[in-house]
Amino acid sequence: MDKEHMKAIQVFETGGAEKLVYSDKDVPQPASGQALVKLTASGVNYIDVYHRTGLYPQPMPFTPGMEGAGIVEALGEGVTNLEIGQKVAYAMAIGSYADYAVVPSWQLVPVPDLLALETAAAVMLQGMTAHYLAHSTFKLEPGMTCVVHACGGGVGLLLTQIAKKLGAMVIGTTSAAPGSAKYELALKAGVDVISNYEDFNAKGVHVVYDSVGATTFEASLNALRPRGMMVTYGNASGPVPDISPLKLAQKGSIFLTRPTLGHYAATREELIWRSGDLFEWLQDGSLWLHVEKTYPMSDASEAHRDLESRKTSGKLMLKN
Ligand code: NDP
Repeated sequence: MDKEHMKAIQVFETGGAEKLVYSDKDVPQPASGQALVKLTASGVNYIDVYHRTGLYPQPMPFTPGMEGAGIVEALGEGVTNLEIGQKVAYAMAIGSYADYAVVPSWQLVPVPDLLALETAAAVMLQGMTAHYLAHSTFKLEPGMTCVVHACGGGVGLLLTQIAKKLGAMVIGTTSAAPGSAKYELALKAGVDVISNYEDFNAKGVHVVYDSVGATTFEASLNALRPRGMMVTYGNASGPVPDISPLKLAQKGSIFLTRPTLGHYAATREELIWRSGDLFEWLQDGSLWLHVEKTYPMSDASEAHRDLESRKTSGKLMLKN
């Protein structure tokens, strides 16, 4: 691969997984305040599916992928916080399904020498999400009870581990059958009570972290204690329909929030705090990652099909 051209996935029109086209593209040039990163690995996240299908619209054509890690290759004007050759990772800048990506320099965090770039890439988006949900959206404390829907998924396994670290009890849901790898991973992460969605009937919990969306929303509201908090942060089963504020009163003066990572990793300080905690925990062994499968970038379609099929647990990666 020469310096001017690279391999990248491109989406020219929205649709199914087959719309992820492996193609040649110009290497992007870093503008003022940006850095060019030669990517080692890129994380696959559910948000990439929403971009591909058009649920979260993007200007066409675009290269998907919101998370990666690699080596700083070039610096745009005015960038003083990075050096060429430095190991960096990031989340929430689009275009990581590629050999190179340009990223605003403030979003690039240094990766410790002893941490593999693949590991850093795998933890940034889902890990910082789990971090902000449990520390900032609703701060878990010892003795509290939370619900983690899709507890065997990428965010789910990390959120469960962090909730346990903070001393909370975790009620988890998954479609996976007892004894399956996904079910066992959820138990290993520390889920105290686990059920499928049909049997879910928790009551009196402090907070529900719900990434499933449409199919779990109502049961989630019913699980809350008076003045509890409903955190709807994803739409794996489809977006939640509009609701009247009066419903929040009827369910016990509950709080409803719909957070996104961008607003909780909005400053350099927050990014360094959240990623720093995650890197530290991975290095001291108090947090583990389950990377289910790493695909060559050319097989991004297969990665999306697997993610949407619900068969996967933990993290899916693309090798750049
Ligand atoms: P996951 O690995 O959790 O995959 C999604 C999981 O959702 C599936 O494995 C499946 O687990 C469960 N699920 C339940 N119903 C369905 C359905 N109808 N179709 C597909 N899956 C379903 O993905 P991620 O960890 O990448 O993301 C989890 C969620 O968190 C996504 O909705 C994502 O958008 C959201 N998210 C939100 C962020 C934010 O800041 N708001 C940031 C990051 C992620 P099972 O079969 O076991 O139920």
